[in-house]
Amino acid sequence: MTEANKTYDIIIVGTGMAGLASAIYAKRFGMETLVIGELQGGTITQTHLVENYPGYKSISGFELGMKFIEHAASVESEIKSTKVTNITHTKAGIFEVETAKGEKLLTYSVLLATGLAHRKLGVPGEAKYTNKGVSYCATCDGPLFRGKKVIVVGGGDSAFKESLFLAEHAEHVTIMYRRGEENLRPEPINAQRVEAHPKIDLMLNTVIKEIKGDENVITELLIEDALTSETSTFEAQGVFVEIGGEARSALGIDLGCNLDGRKQIIIDRYSRSSVPGVFAAGDVTDSEWKQGVICAAEGAAAAYAAYGYVNKKKLEN
Ligand code: NAP
Repeated sequence: MTEANKTYDIIIVGTGMAGLASAIYAKRFGMETLVIGELQGGTITQTHLVENYPGYKSISGFELGMKFIEHAASVESEIKSTKVTNITHTKAGIFEVETAKGEKLLTYSVLLATGLAHRKLGVPGEAKYTNKGVSYCATCDGPLFRGKKVIVVGGGDSAFKESLFLAEHAEHVTIMYRRGEENLRPEPINAQRVEAHPKIDLMLNTVIKEIKGDENVITELLIEDALTSETSTFEAQGVFVEIGGEARSALGIDLGCNLDGRKQIIIDRYSRSSVPGVFAAGDVTDSEWKQGVICAAEGAAAAYAAYGYVNKKKLEN
């Protein structure tokens, strides 16, 4: 059967931990499985160190992502490196998945494992200096800031974790957080490491208003004290934006899936979205905790659910 007239059992959108874990399970269930995604290994590959994925005391995010890819490839999951541009219902129970390469692929079920997109600050200068000092990936760009003064924006675990990595390269790292200490939410172990680190300090109640510089490099930030509204400038050559992410749920929206207030796809205990045949797993869902181990587990659960759904669907046809 050629790809053009083949109907997959499941097309998984997303090559991160949720999508790849699901592919491993789906293949073992004997499902005709295709995984499509742009970032092989997913956003975990942009995390410096992972110290809470069971089985690995400490592993680089890139290595962990590659292990998922290798495992999925070893069970002969078909993986396509491209973007899914559209998904539509063709006839009862069959979905047509279109890719950026112009392919039109048919499947009985769809798993959306599309994760989160980096949230942007939305201040003047951010777009101009992206890749010229503004970065959304400390692991990728940190070594370029050797001996420089950098800012990490945010007060979540990502800001704390990535500042520890950046401090291995930069002269000094300042974590800038828009609210007070009581609202910070790093894992306690990372909070302790930051506190003890001689090259990292924390600026609370500080809002970045503008990123300034010359044609090609950042030189300073215009900042505002959130308590007094006083503005001042702060010298820096790098700005790492670690302010969380937004669910990549556009395909789910187009399919008519119900979303929560954060535009995350609502799933039930069987990984089902509100649209029959459309399942979701990982950071794109309304699950509260955004963790690699949870993404992998949700991917596995979704494969079980899709397996049952597809078998039933085939019996009906
Ligand atoms: P997060 O927990 O959502 O925190 C985002 C931070 O950015 C908050 O401090 C927030 O401030 C701030 N923020 C949001 N929008 C902002 C804006 N426009 N301007 C300035 N600051 C802004 O994000 P995260 O730290 O990336 O973590 C996301 C998820 O990934 C969490 O569930 C976390 O547990 C998980 N994570 C896991 C690991 C791991 O190793 N397993 C590592 C890192 C993160 P407010 O407090 O004012 O909203």
